[in-house]
Amino acid sequence: MTVTAQREQELLASVPTGLLINGEWRDASSGKTFDVHDPATGKVLTSLQDATSEDALAALDAADAVQREWALSAPRDRAEILRRAFDLVTERAEDFALLMTLEMGKPLAEARGEVAYGAEFLRWFSEETVRHYGRYFTSPEGKNKMIVTHKPVGPSLLITPWNFPLAMATRKVAPAVAAGCTMVLKPAKLTPLTSQLFAQTMMEAGLPAGVLNVVSGTSASSISGPLMKDRRLRKVSFTGSTPVGVRLMKDAAENVLRTSMELGGNAPFLVFEDADLDAAVQGAMAAKMRNMGEACTAANRFLVHEAVAEEFTQKFADAMKALKPLRGTDPESTVGPIIDGGARDDVHALVTEAVDAGADVVTGGAPVEGDGYFYQPTVLKVSSGSPILGQEIFGPVAPVITFSSEEEAIELANASEYGLASYIYTRDVNKMFRVSEQIEFGLVGFNAGVISNASAPFGGVKQSGLGREGGAEGIEEYTTVQYIGIADPYAAQ
Ligand code: NAP
Repeated sequence: MTVTAQREQELLASVPTGLLINGEWRDASSGKTFDVHDPATGKVLTSLQDATSEDALAALDAADAVQREWALSAPRDRAEILRRAFDLVTERAEDFALLMTLEMGKPLAEARGEVAYGAEFLRWFSEETVRHYGRYFTSPEGKNKMIVTHKPVGPSLLITPWNFPLAMATRKVAPAVAAGCTMVLKPAKLTPLTSQLFAQTMMEAGLPAGVLNVVSGTSASSISGPLMKDRRLRKVSFTGSTPVGVRLMKDAAENVLRTSMELGGNAPFLVFEDADLDAAVQGAMAAKMRNMGEACTAANRFLVHEAVAEEFTQKFADAMKALKPLRGTDPESTVGPIIDGGARDDVHALVTEAVDAGADVVTGGAPVEGDGYFYQPTVLKVSSGSPILGQEIFGPVAPVITFSSEEEAIELANASEYGLASYIYTRDVNKMFRVSEQIEFGLVGFNAGVISNASAPFGGVKQSGLGREGGAEGIEEYTTVQYIGIADPYAAQ
């Protein structure tokens, strides 16, 4: 069913437009606002208050003021807030999905998938909250007793990207709540509406005032800069590009802050000669085209054994050609627009550069004419050394390159400064283990094109970052360890 303009307007009107500081939605201290656009039309959706440095510091004041009390709250209470938030987000799944489609562009069916995935972090960490144990043991010489406990690290700055507006927020907020940290959340300026609605939902779920503060705005460095220098801040968790992550790590070093860095990717998608090719094409479509290719986990380099390369490439190109680039609210849409005009130009520049360097265009290769920032789903045949293989594409473009041996496949896969996601298609489980062991990636999909899951530790190696989100590991990012040494309780007094 097509979404009506009235439904869109009603939903947009229900999104809080202010800054959430100490449980209240406030105007920015500058009195300025900024516009949020629909990438499928280029039109303004709505305007939000534009946070300043002063507002960011007010948000940290609020977070710091309640940190001690929040740290002492009962794990069960925090768990129940998260569980209620899961229920509320799930009840409002259609609102969250439509809002993401409007501000980010992904087709509604995909946005619904993100709501289910994003909500799952709330449920997962609600369960983890009450099962996060320490240890009690006897010292090796047998005299003293030792207690090791986990404590919340303290006020945390959470910075999220525009590509998964709900899931990137819940993946940070849920473990921080579970651990007992207070937060200042800075969403991406291109897609802040989902975080605004999510924060409102967290308050409705019972989160006390000041625990979660949200400062949307156009000047990321004015918001993060003074916070990163402030001794009350204890942690920064960032998801975004590697250059910005590196800059934040330098700032974090000055203030000895704990950091979690989920950075860029350049995922290889390996198809061996024994793979089920239809399954590989299906997996390739999911790994490449989810989020229009604008995902850190997006397959970026298709490495295909020469014996099956022709067949795989043709089937893959046919599937790409069949996609329908339409506004995400259209029931026929199977691929949405690129996030903005500049990002679309960047994608096209990568394709043009690859073609100039000798790539063959199998399908696509150009922007879609008309409203919005659509780009044709594109398959390129490239050879080793093609400049596009060294770049995070962040668009619906798939370069295919061949290999002739397992050794060469491993070498090509590792020929990247990034190490986030990777995909292996083969029927041979021994080969999967051999290759997984030798490729330098934090995540491996075995005959699977989508592997993100709230219960799994998500994160990369090399220039893809530090730390893990989700899984049992996710809560550790927000805790610090305290050891209590107890004198020998059996010693004579
Ligand atoms: P980005 O430009 O690095 O921005 C990410 C966030 O950082 C945004 O909120 C942005 O604010 C903020 N930011 C930008 N400059 C900053 C500065 N100097 N100081 C503090 N904050 C700053 O990345 P993006 O374009 O939004 O997202 C795409 C990138 O994210 C890709 O590289 C992708 O691979 C990566 N990503 C990684 C993961 C993962 O889990 N590893 C997941 C998703 C995306 P503004 O929006 O206001 O500029």
